Amino acid sequence: MKIGILSRSKALYSTRRLVEAGQERGHEVKVIDHLRCYMNIASHKPAVHYKGEALEGFDAVIPRIGASVTFYGTAVVRQFEMMEVYSLNESVAITRSRDKLRSMQLLARKGIGLPVTGFAHSPDDTDDLLKLVGGAPVILKLLEGTQGKGVVLAENKKAAESVIDAFRGLRANFLLQEFIAEAGGADIRAFVIGEIVVAAMKRQAPEGEFRSNLHRGGKAELVRLTPEERLTAVRSAKIMGLNVAGVDIVRSNHGPVVLEVNSSPGLEGIESTTGKDVAGMIMQFLEKNAKHGRTRTRGQG
Ligand code: ADP
Ligand code: MG
Repeated sequence: MKIGILSRSKALYSTRRLVEAGQERGHEVKVIDHLRCYMNIASHKPAVHYKGEALEGFDAVIPRIGASVTFYGTAVVRQFEMMEVYSLNESVAITRSRDKLRSMQLLARKGIGLPVTGFAHSPDDTDDLLKLVGGAPVILKLLEGTQGKGVVLAENKKAAESVIDAFRGLRANFLLQEFIAEAGGADIRAFVIGEIVVAAMKRQAPEGEFRSNLHRGGKAELVRLTPEERLTAVRSAKIMGLNVAGVDIVRSNHGPVVLEVNSSPGLEGIESTTGKDVAGMIMQFLEKNAKHGRTRTRGQG
């Protein structure tokens, strides 16, 4: 197969591993910087151009779109879909999962366990908003944050009010969330391909920190998921419409709750922790599913 990896850099671990895994299995793999793609929006013969040439003959693309370039990145994926090139994750699914509010609403309506979450644009009543999520301690999250950067724990009501005031002053979009204290600073990353959790790890925050992101010094270890956790991960990916997803789950005393569903989950942490060839499994999935014209939405909004 001829496979395009939409990624900003060949040097990134996940990109490198996907190239390796593809070549090992006899595929032609090309890394395409999606920000350097340009397109013609035409009904007759949609095309993607790159470095002066049309990209042609691809059987599949693997989008590795960073959160800061979702808008343009998904437009490039959509264009490939219009050309009937199979995308590992389709553009609508990526867009859906990138919007924390939209994805939580979609998961909630299908009965997936979530931390109690509140959202407000400009509420006059901070008190009632806090009550809505069970009061302090409470988590406040910027909608556009990644790697734990926009996530704050307010231990008491005064602290919560100050942070809410500060976020509002900055005109930032944020949500409030029940703090799952019993998780003890740990969460689970379940790596889903198709309808299977192919690998999972537990991430533990360092002493005195509640955010388990590996970028914040969290440590990863192997973990065995319960059947309920597996089902939650697989269903969450499916609801988002993602074939490949990293589902982040916290163990609360009311069962597994989903924090987020990632559409370009990193391979480094999960492969080094589990010793599994996740990149190879992604290639296997493509071999089975990436037929020309098999893209479900064909670029539909
Ligand atoms: P980001 O997109 O920045 O990674 P997350 O929502 O994943 O934001 O939060 C970062 C980390 O903070 C999580 O991995 C988890 O360890 C911790 N965390 C987030 N929300 C909660 C919560 N409601 N209760 C307890 N811990 C949380
Ligand atoms: Mg996270």
